[in-house]
Order: sequence, then structure tokens, then C-alpha cells
Amino acid sequence: SVDSSIESERTLAIIKPDGVSGNHTNSIKETILNNGFKITEESFIQLDEDRVKSFYAEHSSRSFFPSLVQYMISGPMLIMVLEKGNAIADWRALIGPTDPLKAKVTHPHSVRAICGLDLQKNCVHGSDSPQSVAREISFFFERTSSGHVSKHDEL
Ligand code: ADP
Ligand code: MG
Repeated sequence: SVDSSIESERTLAIIKPDGVSGNHTNSIKETILNNGFKITEESFIQLDEDRVKSFYAEHSSRSFFPSLVQYMISGPMLIMVLEKGNAIADWRALIGPTDPLKAKVTHPHSVRAICGLDLQKNCVHGSDSPQSVAREISFFFERTSSGHVSKHDEL
């Protein structure tokens, strides 16, 4: 294509344990599809402590880290690869700010405003940069000669 801005981009989305247990999975997937994303990969997984510590390594020195790890291992999650033009920024915009209580005020139609419970249990994840997308997609998925399969954790 001539216009690179219309070329599709991938991002990683996660419906976190509170989102799955709160029965938000179907409505969030509907929101994703209604906003022009394709869901090109999806898998229900449950992470163990070591895998969460690795996924969120950038936050390992934060005081909330132990609690974040316990939350992220507390139940199954849905991981998805989303695809569309400008997917990374558009998915971040759709989920809203990290804190759902602030999102309810500033971005009332965002996924976190609607489904999130508090600053930790905020229902969804979205990659924040092309570098994060590359790291996070390879963290959960790998391409083999026989197709695209989940590396670990699959339920
Ligand atoms: P985001 O998910 O919006 O990119 P961060 O990367 O800053 O946010 O944080 C990762 C996750 O850690 C958040 O989505 C949230 O679940 C949790 N978190 C972030 N900041 C806090 C905090 N101050 N207290 C408790 N949990 C937090
Ligand atoms: Mg982040």
C-alpha cells in the first residue's frame, strides 16, 4: 500500500482475572470488534508467580508489586492479539487511564471506567509501545512450523 498509516498494527490485550471472573469477557470482545479491531489470536491462560514477575519486571521495585503479582495469578485471563491500523494507541485509548476511579470521571465510556474495580483491579491490559508489543506477544505466543501456538500457561 502507498499510505503506511493505513497498514495494520498488532497489540496485546489482556482481560485480567477480575475481568474474566466479573463476566466482562463477552462485552469487552464486542467492544473490541465494534471498534474495528480483528482478534487474530486468543487463549485462556493462568500465569504462575514466576511468569507474572517476568511479565511485569519493569514494576518489580514498586511497593504494589507483591500485591500485583497475587492479583495476576488469582485466576484465568484471556490474552488476545488485536490488529488494525494504529492498534497500539487506539487500544490504550479505548481502555482508558490506569485508575478506573479516575477513568469514571475523565473517560466514562472507557473499558476501565465501565469494568474496572480499583487502581489494581483495572480489568484490562494494553501494550504501551511497539517494543512492548514485540516483547509481550513473544512472551505469550510463538510461531512454530505447524502454526501459532501458546508457549505456556494455556488452560
Ligand atoms: P497500565 O496497565 O495502565 O500500563 P502500569 O504499567 O503503570 O499501568 O501498571 C501495571 C499494572 O499495575 C496496572 O494496570 C495496575 O493493575 C497495577 N498498578 C499500577 N499502579 C498501581 C498502584 N499505584 N497501586 C496498585 N496497583 C497498581
Ligand atoms: Mg503499563
